[in-house]
Amino acid sequence: MSAGALPLAGGTDLMVETNFGHIRPDHVVALRRVAELKEWDGNRIGSGVTWRRIEDQGPRALSQAARTVGSPQIRNAGTIGGNLGTASPAGDGHPFLVAVDAEIELSSTGGVRTLGWREFFTGVKKTARADDELITGVHLPEDLPERQEFAKIGVRNAMVIATVCVVVTRRPDGRTTVGLGSVAPTPIRASRSEEMISSVTRPSQTDLAEFQCLVSEEVSPITDHRSTEAYRRHAAGVLARRLLERCLR
Ligand SMILES: Cc1cc2nc3c(=O)[nH]c(=O)nc-3n(C[C@H](O)[C@H](O)[C@H](O)COP(=O)(O)OP(=O)(O)OC[C@H]3O[C@@H](n4cnc5c(N)ncnc54)[C@H](O)[C@@H]3O)c2cc1C
Repeated sequence: MSAGALPLAGGTDLMVETNFGHIRPDHVVALRRVAELKEWDGNRIGSGVTWRRIEDQGPRALSQAARTVGSPQIRNAGTIGGNLGTASPAGDGHPFLVAVDAEIELSSTGGVRTLGWREFFTGVKKTARADDELITGVHLPEDLPERQEFAKIGVRNAMVIATVCVVVTRRPDGRTTVGLGSVAPTPIRASRSEEMISSVTRPSQTDLAEFQCLVSEEVSPITDHRSTEAYRRHAAGVLARRLLERCLR
């Protein structure tokens, strides 16, 4: 892809930005008819796979996240690659990718490289993608955790950008991961909370309360038009605890 041209997948972010006059691209490269980007082969999801397909075919927590993206119209057009391209801190696909340590595949005429999510997300709506690179796919690990749950809080029940969104995963040996969105400039993992709860085989109410507090401490949200720093901090802890409880059932 030539540097300077903007990739256009479903257009559900790009066209909003264009219509509001925030961007005025000279060139766009429409990707919707590129069949290769829609391929979904085992644990590699092509960047052009829509949320609608992920709703039906995705791993549990990613499918739960897909179900909350916009409306049926948005889910039919919007793609996982576009979600990553926008890299909004509130992107609903990100907590899952972060929680399972997914890798993002980037391709250009120079070749293909895969980046871990930590390298890929560099700031608010900023990524390590070079101008001449396309996001071509997402690689999930082979051994996804058996228990995985997603939830999101917003100001309404539907058609809402997340105030906080969380994925918790847990394996039979106790290993737990927590991926969070909308609580920092990029999606994050709550690593101290993970470490604390992973060492407990059968968490008591006291352990769960400690886990909740730790998650609230680990996030670094801001106050903006959607919510306050204090509410996001509180909600992150509560959501993470609830999801962990579901994983433990
Ligand atoms: C009404 C409405 C509701 C929404 N609700 C939600 C929601 O609940 N949760 C949520 O997370 N998002 C939501 N969104 C945002 C949007 O739908 C998602 O982020 C979606 O995944 C974007 O995908 P797309 O294919 O439409 O991306 P596009 O709009 O086509 O592209 C988005 C950005 O990514 C870049 N891009 C696209 N594809 C590639 C690629 N292959 N390689 C490199 N860069 C690429 C584009 O250049 C652009 O910068 C909503 C949007 C609208 C309009």
